[in-house]
Amino acid sequence: MRGIGVSSGIVIGKAYVVDRRTDAVQFCHLDPSQAHSEVKRFTGAVSESKKQLRRITRMLTKEGRGKEHIGIIDAHLMILKDQMLINDTIKLIKQERMNAEWALKTVLKGIRELFDKMDDRYFKERSSDIEHIVDRIIMNLSGEEHASIADIEEPSVVVAHDLSPADTAQMVKGKVVAFLTDIGGKTSHTAIMARSLEIPAVVGLENVTRNAEAGDTIIVDGMTGAVIINPSESVLHVYERRRSKYASYDKELHHYRNLPAETLDGRRIRLMGNMEIAEEITSLLDHGAEGIGLYRSEFLYMNRKDLPTEEEHMASYVHVAKQMSPRPVVVRTLDIGGDKFLSPMEVADEINPAMGLRAIRLCLKRPDMFITQLRGILRASAYGKLKVMFPMISGIDELRRAKAIFEETKEELRRENKPFDPDIEVGVMIEVPSAAFIADLLAKEADFFSIGTNDLLQYSLAIDRVNEHVAYLYEPFHPAVLRIIKNVVDCAKQRGISVSVCGEMAGEPEHALMFIGMGLEQLSMNAFSLLRVKRLVRSVRYEDAKDIVTTALTFSTAREVENYVSSKVIELYREEFYG
Ligand code: PEP
Ligand code: MG
Repeated sequence: MRGIGVSSGIVIGKAYVVDRRTDAVQFCHLDPSQAHSEVKRFTGAVSESKKQLRRITRMLTKEGRGKEHIGIIDAHLMILKDQMLINDTIKLIKQERMNAEWALKTVLKGIRELFDKMDDRYFKERSSDIEHIVDRIIMNLSGEEHASIADIEEPSVVVAHDLSPADTAQMVKGKVVAFLTDIGGKTSHTAIMARSLEIPAVVGLENVTRNAEAGDTIIVDGMTGAVIINPSESVLHVYERRRSKYASYDKELHHYRNLPAETLDGRRIRLMGNMEIAEEITSLLDHGAEGIGLYRSEFLYMNRKDLPTEEEHMASYVHVAKQMSPRPVVVRTLDIGGDKFLSPMEVADEINPAMGLRAIRLCLKRPDMFITQLRGILRASAYGKLKVMFPMISGIDELRRAKAIFEETKEELRRENKPFDPDIEVGVMIEVPSAAFIADLLAKEADFFSIGTNDLLQYSLAIDRVNEHVAYLYEPFHPAVLRIIKNVVDCAKQRGISVSVCGEMAGEPEHALMFIGMGLEQLSMNAFSLLRVKRLVRSVRYEDAKDIVTTALTFSTAREVENYVSSKVIELYREEFYG
């Protein structure tokens, strides 16, 4: 089976299957006299669920586990206080005389439909938080003992439809050697936790719970997303070799942590980290990040009913700036909009939100909200090396308007005698094709560029980045993509401004090789990719990389480019790349 690898590592282990309660729920019509006690049974199960979650929080606090885990369980406790979930269930029990399980399942269905209408991946994944809570309540209604993942005794590969962050937080490294889920994506809380706990994981497998049974032997490759259930002897043998190779590769990679990212012929490449939540900083530093090249600030706006205040913005950026000091941190202003907003902002439904009122467009339309964030960033700039970057810029006017608001905000702070870094740099994300084509013009008015290849590919190849049906067209080596990026790099260099790549391509060694050859001196990526890319940087010659790019640009298809780059890599650096 193939899913989405969200936390790397190769593991061979026995399956521990976590079953789902909600699916097995049966309908039962109550007698009028039973409704009262049914409500009591339901509220009792809700209280029990709260107790269990509080117990987990206490356990995690005692063990000194990360704040983010506790935060997520707190969020689950909040769901248990949710009016819609609890009151609507009680209403159904009383009015429709449904048994509590069925009433709860019915309310969940309504909530699920509401979430499904949202096109946004992030919020879709958040709906799973509610499902986990419903599962827990149903379990408590049945009076069964909650089979806790913390109780697993043998080293196991946990297989579940989805895992709640509360379950994931209880995983003990060593006992849970990997986990697999039917649903989920790279940005789900569970995936974020897997990475922070360094437990290999594959999500989005669709029907792994149907295919795997308790005790099955399972191979998990958390990097490629490959999962093999009950492999043959020969496959097992292959993966045993891969596993030990991976283990020594992983160990070897750590040697690179404190070494400079410098090519064999002495070109220094700065490797920065991408982050969404503060908890990632430790891991980024541990993997040798030389700064934060992309702080996706929209995560501050999610999972809440109101907008973050200036103080909250400031506190978040000060925290990151201080932790990373003296390294630089690039804060990207809010990149959200269309139907990505839940409650804090009511924005009209859009047919095509990726091209709708999002990112800088939304900020320019709502200057009040934009200024609150800019004030937070500016005030935090007094505490460390911060830079600001605008997402989705499509033309000069937009950049000028954003910069004008930024300048007015600085003026305002000056009047209020609030300190900030007057030389704070302002950058532009190059992720819309129109911006890439006028990179020469934008370069005159920006301090730096950061190329967002995720969206740049989406818009220039016209493929929805979250639609699996067109995923085959997502070709980073497409000649158009290479030409567009090359043009942006050339324009930045001609104008003497710095340029980096912060899309997922930056973390792939073969793509990184192309970027180095194009003349890029800074790349930004997730923690795991940092050491892999540093290893590549230290294994290649800049002069070779330049030649590879020159030839690669002469090909007509992505396949040809890919074949050529791979063959060159094997010819020149077989050892370094493949061990
Ligand atoms: C990108 O588009 O490449 C990027 C880095 O931003 P995001 O993935 O947050 O859209
Ligand atoms: Mg983007």
